[in-house]
Amino acid sequence: MEVKLAGYNIDSSIIERMRAAESLKGLPLTPETVAVAYARISRDPSPVTELRKKSIDDVEAARRSARSIVFEMNHQSVAEHAVFNFDILDISRLCVESLEWHRLCSYTEKSQRYQELVGDYVLPKEFEGEARPLFDRAMKDQNELYAKAFKVLLDYFKGKHPNMLEKKSDRRTVEGYAKEDARYAVSLATKAQLGFTANARNLEYLIRRMRGNPLSEVKALGEEFFRLAGNVAPSLILLTDPAEYLKEFGRPLNDDYFIKTHPNASRLASETMGRCASPGREFPSNGDVKLIDWTGKADRAILEAILHSHTLASAEACRAAADRLIEEGGAEEFIRNYLVYSNPWESATREFEFADFTFEVVLSSACYGQMKRHRMSSQLVQEYDPKLGFTYPPSVIETGLKRDFEENYRQSSEAYYELSKYNRAAAQYVLTNGHRRRMLIRANSRELHHISRLREDAHAQWDVRKVSGDMLALAREKSPLSLMLAWGKDRLPEKKRELLGS
Ligand SMILES: Cc1cc2nc3c(=O)[nH]c(=O)nc-3n(C[C@H](O)[C@H](O)[C@H](O)COP(=O)(O)OP(=O)(O)OC[C@H]3O[C@@H](n4cnc5c(N)ncnc54)[C@H](O)[C@@H]3O)c2cc1C
Repeated sequence: MEVKLAGYNIDSSIIERMRAAESLKGLPLTPETVAVAYARISRDPSPVTELRKKSIDDVEAARRSARSIVFEMNHQSVAEHAVFNFDILDISRLCVESLEWHRLCSYTEKSQRYQELVGDYVLPKEFEGEARPLFDRAMKDQNELYAKAFKVLLDYFKGKHPNMLEKKSDRRTVEGYAKEDARYAVSLATKAQLGFTANARNLEYLIRRMRGNPLSEVKALGEEFFRLAGNVAPSLILLTDPAEYLKEFGRPLNDDYFIKTHPNASRLASETMGRCASPGREFPSNGDVKLIDWTGKADRAILEAILHSHTLASAEACRAAADRLIEEGGAEEFIRNYLVYSNPWESATREFEFADFTFEVVLSSACYGQMKRHRMSSQLVQEYDPKLGFTYPPSVIETGLKRDFEENYRQSSEAYYELSKYNRAAAQYVLTNGHRRRMLIRANSRELHHISRLREDAHAQWDVRKVSGDMLALAREKSPLSLMLAWGKDRLPEKKRELLGS
């Protein structure tokens, strides 16, 4: 065996110093050389260490190879070997949503739970003209409510947790409770910052999509990624231009092209919605969460998968054995034995991917901000819709702030409808963390374990804890065995003792 460390991402200031160093002049400081060397492994029998040297010695030839392998032969996974990190400052929460829609990348962002907000927001280009006073006014009102609510809520939480005022870390936790609830007053224009890591394949894809986005800010972010990474790895960041895309594939890049070009689709949906006799009654539901689809016999599907991957039996035999276990009452013990060593830090095994659950959730923007980070689930969202009502933190109700929030939500919704006359997509900037949207989320039992571990846990924020708890309760009814240990990590020891006696 021979293993060599072929490269790793290092800070750009060090790369700049390397670029300036006389002794390194002419060396290609690009991740393309590694990606191309790996691409050549497929057909060239030379040791990969030599292939890397060959790429470095003739970077132009390497770039030609990359273009041909990645784009002409469609071997796009090769571009995944080149990785980029970006510091992203002063973008709006709405823009973060568009960025984080791309699930195969890595993100760490400023938390509105842990940091006090200082009233800074992004003024969207769309509202720089005559709509600006309307937009600025909404921001001012929202931020004033945030400041007021933060003070009231801090006193409230201090009163509620008198034994958490001594230690600095406890005091910070109590302040966090106030921050996380006060933020329901502020909008999606609020500034964020994040660290973002993506490989060249994902980066190219997201640049292309962002350039086709209706929001100027998202387009501009796509342009920045292109300017910065396109220069470093021109052979891997190629197919990003909406005009070229239209020419090549005959359709625009914009997400909404379907509805625009097929108006019948939205007419059909709204007409049928009007005729739907009992909206919300057709599916098992729990609060704002509906279970709209699931794998029938989900427990059997997982038993079957476990038997299949641990034996040499055929799928038919495993299914028959799973049926027998269920009929004869041995299934529960079988799963219990399988789960006996599970712990909060390790995910459920791959066998749990063989049962799916699809939910429709109406959730606040604050809650969506957290759910969207679960990249192994499939998620689709509608635009925010003030008609779906608003989410009020329980603390806001208990401190008598509900009327202030109600007024804030109402005014922000009004501003949204006014701003929609200028630009509908951009009007969403003015909506708050308490405004809501519909989301479809499909997750398998393995990902549900993970969502539950993190989001049903006592450390999780109350809004996402409620939504994930409601999702899990519905799924547990359909798959009680596979989900017997899908609980927040705080409850796992108790549940293990209860179910497994360990
Ligand atoms: C209490 C709490 C506080 C948080 N605070 C913050 C915060 O301040 N800022 C912030 O940005 N986020 C915060 N988060 C979000 C957190 O960092 C995760 O992004 C989120 O919980 C999703 O979890 P995940 O990435 O493990 O899982 P998912 O994306 O749901 O993926 C499931 C599993 O797949 C695997 N996986 C998925 N993608 C990759 C990958 N690219 N590489 C390797 N493995 C992968 C991992 O095993 C992962 O556990 C917080 C979460 C919690 C629960």
